[in-house]
Amino acid sequence: MTRSSDGQPSAAIDPELLAILACPAEHHAPLELDPAGSELLCTQCDRAFPIRDGIPVLLLDEARHRAG
Ligand SMILES: [Zn+2]
Repeated sequence: MTRSSDGQPSAAIDPELLAILACPAEHHAPLELDPAGSELLCTQCDRAFPIRDGIPVLLLDEARHRAG
């Protein structure tokens, strides 16, 4: 990690880790990091998965639905 700590507040997910993560739903779509860095957003469905202590919680029971 050579990233400078210039006040970035987020416990951002490692991009290499993010690249191998997928939605736990049956489509297993890739995920993208929320702009706020606090959730992982599915690129196919409307689920948002929380990130707790830098660990993505990829459980359908824990997912939030962005729409409605
Ligand atoms: Zn999904």
